[in-house]
Amino acid sequence: MRALSFHKRLKFRKDYPIPQRAEGEALIRVLQAGICNTDIEIVRGYMPFQGVLGHEFVGVVEEAGDKTWIGKRVVGEINCPCGGCEYCRQGLGNHCPNRKVLGILGKDGAFADYVTLPMANLHELPASISNLQAVFVEPIASAFRILEQVDIGPKDRVAVLGDGKLGLLVAQVMASTGCELTAVGRHPEKLEILAKRKIKTRLVHEGPYQKFDLCIDCTGSPKGLELALDLVRPMGKIVLKSTFARGERLNLSQLVVNEVVLLGSRCGPFKRAIEALQDGAVEVDNMVTKVYNLGEATKAFSLASRKGVLKVVLYMT
Ligand SMILES: [Zn+2]
Ligand SMILES: [Zn+2]
Repeated sequence: MRALSFHKRLKFRKDYPIPQRAEGEALIRVLQAGICNTDIEIVRGYMPFQGVLGHEFVGVVEEAGDKTWIGKRVVGEINCPCGGCEYCRQGLGNHCPNRKVLGILGKDGAFADYVTLPMANLHELPASISNLQAVFVEPIASAFRILEQVDIGPKDRVAVLGDGKLGLLVAQVMASTGCELTAVGRHPEKLEILAKRKIKTRLVHEGPYQKFDLCIDCTGSPKGLELALDLVRPMGKIVLKSTFARGERLNLSQLVVNEVVLLGSRCGPFKRAIEALQDGAVEVDNMVTKVYNLGEATKAFSLASRKGVLKVVLYMT
C-alpha cells in the first residue's frame, strides 16, 4: 500500500506492507487524514517514533471480527491501552504505560491506504458530517478534554492563547460554555474566523490585559506558558495543550508566588466532538488550507510545517 513513513526522514512509499489486524481490531481503509502539529513535532524529534505518521483520520471498516462494522464510516480514538494494568483497570487507558498510540507511539498511523485500530476505539459517523470535517474530530475531542478537567461557567474569564489549528478549535469549544472568552493570537486573518462567530479576539501585542481565571496555552511554543503566567490571576489556572520538541528555560517563580495551578491536557471524548460538529457548536470548514493526494504527502507535509498555515489534509483515493 501507499504510506508516508518516517524512519529518520519522511518518505513516501508505494510498497509499505498493509497492516495485519490483531484480534479485536478492525482493518480500516483510510479516506482522509489531517496533518497535525504533533506530526510535525515528531519529525523534529519530539517523540522517538519510527513508522507511518498520522492520527487524525476518517475511513471505512473493511475487516472486523464483528461483521456489523464492515462498511461503516468511522473515526478512531488513538490510544490503544493494554487493558490489564493498574491504570487500565481504573478506566485510565489513555495513561496506560504499555499503550500504543496511533502514529505516535508503537503503532503505524493513518497517512496510508490502510490502518488498524481496536474496535473499541471506533466511532461511527453520522451522514451529516463530511469526510473533511471528520478529520477534525480527534483535535476537537482534545479540546473537549479541558471541560472534563476544569469546571468552566459563564462567570469565568478565559483566555485561549494561540490562533493555530488547535487554538481555533479550543476557542470554539470554550465559547460553548458561555464563559467570558478572549482569544489571543498573532494573525488577524485567523482571529477573524473566531470573530465571525462572535468570539472576542485580541492581538497578542494589544495589551495591557485584564487578568484571567483560566489561560489555555495552544501556542505550540514555550513562549505560550510565559504569556499565560503573565495573564493568569493569582490562584488561577493554566492549561497546557502545546507539545513541542524544543526545550526552553522557563522562570516558574510566578507560578509559585501566585499559587497558580498548572494542568496538562491531552486526548478527549470523541462523542462530544462528533456532536459539536453535528450541531454547529464547532465549525471547521474555513480551517483547511489545502488538500493533497496521499501521493503528494511530502509536499503536503512541508506546506503544513510552514508558519501561518492551518489544516493540511491528505485524501487517499
Ligand atoms: Zn493531533
Ligand atoms: Zn494498561
